[in-house]
Amino acid sequence: MTSGERPTSPQPLQVTVYLDCNATTHTHPIALQAAREAMELCYGNPSSTHMTGLHARSFLESAREAAAQAVGAASADEIIFNSGATEGIQSSVFSVLIHLLDQFREHGRLSRWRILYGATEHKAVPAAIHHWAELLRIPVEIEAIPVDADGILDIPFIESRISECALICTMAVNNETGVNQPLDQLAALLKRSDAAGCLWFVDGVQALGKVPLCLSQLGAHYACFSGHKLNAPKGIGFLWVHREAPYTAMIVGGGQERGKRSGTENLPGAAAFGRILSALNSETRSIFLSHKQLNQCREKLIATLSRCFPTLVWNANLNRCVPTTLNFSVEGISSRELMNAFDAAGVRVSGGSACSSGQSTGSHVLTAMQLPKWRTLNAIRLSFGPASSEAEIDAACVALQQAGEALRASCMIPNLPARLDQMNETVPFGSTGISELRALDGTRAWLLICRSGESFLVSDCDRALIELRTKLACRGLQNTQILLIDNGSGQHQLASGWQRLKSASGNSLVFETGEHLLKEPSRAPALILFAPYKVCLAELLDGKEAGLFADKLLLACFACEPTALTAYEFQANAAGGLAKHNSSASGGTPPQTGIECNKVELATRLRNQSFTVLDVREAFEAATCHMDDILQQILALPKTENDAQNSALNFKIVPLSRFAQFILERLSEPRQERILCICRSGQRSLQAAELLRRIAGCEAYSLRGGLADLLAPNLSLPPRSVGKGLHDH
Ligand code: PLP
Repeated sequence: MTSGERPTSPQPLQVTVYLDCNATTHTHPIALQAAREAMELCYGNPSSTHMTGLHARSFLESAREAAAQAVGAASADEIIFNSGATEGIQSSVFSVLIHLLDQFREHGRLSRWRILYGATEHKAVPAAIHHWAELLRIPVEIEAIPVDADGILDIPFIESRISECALICTMAVNNETGVNQPLDQLAALLKRSDAAGCLWFVDGVQALGKVPLCLSQLGAHYACFSGHKLNAPKGIGFLWVHREAPYTAMIVGGGQERGKRSGTENLPGAAAFGRILSALNSETRSIFLSHKQLNQCREKLIATLSRCFPTLVWNANLNRCVPTTLNFSVEGISSRELMNAFDAAGVRVSGGSACSSGQSTGSHVLTAMQLPKWRTLNAIRLSFGPASSEAEIDAACVALQQAGEALRASCMIPNLPARLDQMNETVPFGSTGISELRALDGTRAWLLICRSGESFLVSDCDRALIELRTKLACRGLQNTQILLIDNGSGQHQLASGWQRLKSASGNSLVFETGEHLLKEPSRAPALILFAPYKVCLAELLDGKEAGLFADKLLLACFACEPTALTAYEFQANAAGGLAKHNSSASGGTPPQTGIECNKVELATRLRNQSFTVLDVREAFEAATCHMDDILQQILALPKTENDAQNSALNFKIVPLSRFAQFILERLSEPRQERILCICRSGQRSLQAAELLRRIAGCEAYSLRGGLADLLAPNLSLPPRSVGKGLHDH
């Protein structure tokens, strides 16, 4: 522990609240028990004709009865157990298309040739329709049904095409927004005489357990369900097929499931799902919260979120949604920042939908609802389930509040001034030196706070300035001078220490660090160059201004380069300063060994060698999830140098947004230290370690898998191999 850092205090390891039930749910103990019974007591093959097989069959058929009752099917014969909804979607689409193919072969044309699906369907639906129609070469026209701003299907649009429709695919409840589709209106439309012959597929995945279903009355032909969305295990689901609907098996073999889906049945899965469905069918809903309780849970979450985030907007009309899903965006905060803050506080949520998180194109559901781009890109989905408990929701509210306070202390929440009394040294935004600020649209800007108190915000364009100014005001930095990199008009008088340079591809700003930004007097004079792109640096070094950079260390910061890795560059002075610098920094050339290590290597190394461990997460994450305590507890590290020579944990919080400053200090004041970067998942720490190796010449490593791997339950699996790593030398 270095002085000036947050003092260690024994902290319990994380309390976590899982609010991502639309992605998947935990397997409920009653489902576990049923699966166990199926594996231990009823392990027979349901196709065997001896008693053990017959017991297994009886178990399977009870589950089928429960499934039929839960969805209001006319008969258990209409239930086909399968691996889940994606398979159910394929089977339904395939069956309809084979039915159309038969017609086409017989009559040389199709009487109905249009396939409609809701624009907000799960991606599996359009993917299956396009895939099978192309593969089977069936001349159908495939069209998405638009939705209104509430996400509700455009019924007149369907009406105008219904007489041509062979198949219509709609969902009961949307997985991203929780929006309930008006199935009764669709049912009325599909009962009209011009709709006769149109088949109707319903995706019931997110409706099960949340809204009553009566498929026998609805007039639909197919409906799919997945066990893992309602506390059964993954890999089990079922498809309901109306007894008169066309059906062609996609998987053939031993003739299981009445020839409709061959392969030995997943009995443990079916038993588990069956037990859950029986609970749902019971009069009291057994393990599940009542609708009234679900609504009360939602009200608590709504109240907490609205209080913490005054600029929050709900992305769907709450009156049209199931109570278990809340989808929102917060003006001024990206979904990544919110997710990181919530995750650190122990609340698991998702950005948009689990399947699309990681993509930066925005949610297709919110785009279909024509929400503004910033909302589609920055949506958060928070979803609990019928089997969540009220205590869990209370714990979630406490954790959400903590995340909100941590964000507020980092000046991340527009309209809520940070409480200055709560700011401490762990909040680097506003500390002396350079901090990187990111606007919602991804624009990168730098805040320079000099030791004199003078401050500058350097930005490439003025698009994001309003947003960034609110963050400065929150920190009491109203007098910050705004400097635009590319403002070549010459009207602006630059403060002393600054110069504006022009290269072929744009303007750049140069700042002489002197003693302004560094805690200790610098050995080497350093310049910071702010430019839009890397190419500007090369042009300036080749141009007539090159002399300015001679004998100086130069840290270049690029506003428009896409990643943290490419955002910085280091250039030594003309007299070979880079080589000199690197050799003095790390006692040799940067290591050629693997940059990532796994948690087993981490433990060994931290016990035996001295490392500076950097928590590269942002301050609003570090504030609620104390990495040093976690490391100490999980790795059983000695706390002080008295406990062990050489191996006390030298721990620092250096968020990626402060890396420009960290690098500048390493460049100006080279020191020999081994650095290990850790973050939540291993992505940011890898970028940080790569930057430190490439630019500051440090011996730097990253913990693969990050805190997530460290905190993962020990499943007795070998640690993930990382190839050549720390153990190599
Ligand atoms: N349909 C909806 C509405 C869903 O939410 C999901 C899963 O997210 C699926 C279909 C696909 O389910 P599975 O991945 O279990 O096959």
